[in-house]
Amino acid sequence: MPALNASATVAVIGAGAMGAGIAQVAAQAGHPVKLYDNRPGASAQAIDGIDRQLGRLVEKNKLTAEARAAIVARLQPVEAIEALADASLVIEAIVENLEVKRGLLRQLEDLCSADCILASNTSSLSITSLAAGLKHPGRVIGMHFFNPAPLMALVEIVSGLASDRALAEGLYETAKAWGKQPVHTKSTPGFIVNRVARPFYAESLRLLQEGAAGCATLDALMRDAGGFRMGAFELTDLIGHDVNYAVTCSVFDAYYGDFRFQPSLIQKELVDAGRLGRKSGHGFYSYA
Ligand code: NAD
Repeated sequence: MPALNASATVAVIGAGAMGAGIAQVAAQAGHPVKLYDNRPGASAQAIDGIDRQLGRLVEKNKLTAEARAAIVARLQPVEAIEALADASLVIEAIVENLEVKRGLLRQLEDLCSADCILASNTSSLSITSLAAGLKHPGRVIGMHFFNPAPLMALVEIVSGLASDRALAEGLYETAKAWGKQPVHTKSTPGFIVNRVARPFYAESLRLLQEGAAGCATLDALMRDAGGFRMGAFELTDLIGHDVNYAVTCSVFDAYYGDFRFQPSLIQKELVDAGRLGRKSGHGFYSYA
């Protein structure tokens, strides 16, 4: 199956860090994009943020003012989910919770046309479970972008047991047409990158809990000696502790409580306190 035609409408649900980035990527590729969030005003706010970011690229002569205006003109904030009915591809990037995502997919199945692809940006949840119980489970596929979506090339195209192979191929081609480097994977807990990354977070958090060293030292070691772009503490502050903790819990549960994936109580404390990282101004570090 070929890539989605650039004139086809793409709907993005969830105007947080990932939804805003994905909407920007689709609009940069030429699609009309509708951005919906159930928090009133959030979509318009996210599009303002994209506009400001594009403005910085114009200042650095990396984008023309005309291109900036054309990208922003393709982004439409919508306040009612019903407005997404004409989309050819819906990408959901809402909270990492199986039941909430399943409820949304059920709603979309009744709303969108039968040939609309329903993609999920979930980091770890089973695509097979997300699709189960729908009338057409074959059209549910994972399209997992990385943070920040406009900059990170990798996209995991995740097939569940019922996912239609031709649609997965089409989504793979679409990701390529959007300038990304997609990879096919099966729906296994955490898929590829989040599975491999779990020990990086878990062992760093255990070292902190055991008092081996502070966050800044551990981060610096991972960067300077380990060759990682970011240490685990600065990276989880960027990802958001609510999201990172939910992903760890989901992988831990999916592997029947395997100790390797055990969630960290230190991170749970941050989530309970609302210290979600950069997005709340406070995580392991302070961003005030
Ligand atoms: P976020 O908290 O920044 O944004 C989530 C947005 O979804 C919020 O604006 C919220 O208002 C909205 N929302 C929640 N429930 C909704 C609903 N029922 N209907 C409509 N809108 C709803 O979260 P995020 O970091 O953007 O993550 C979103 C998804 O992307 C999650 O599934 C997460 O696992 C995945 N993901 C996150 C990252 C990351 O680094 N943060 C990377 C890849 C994938």
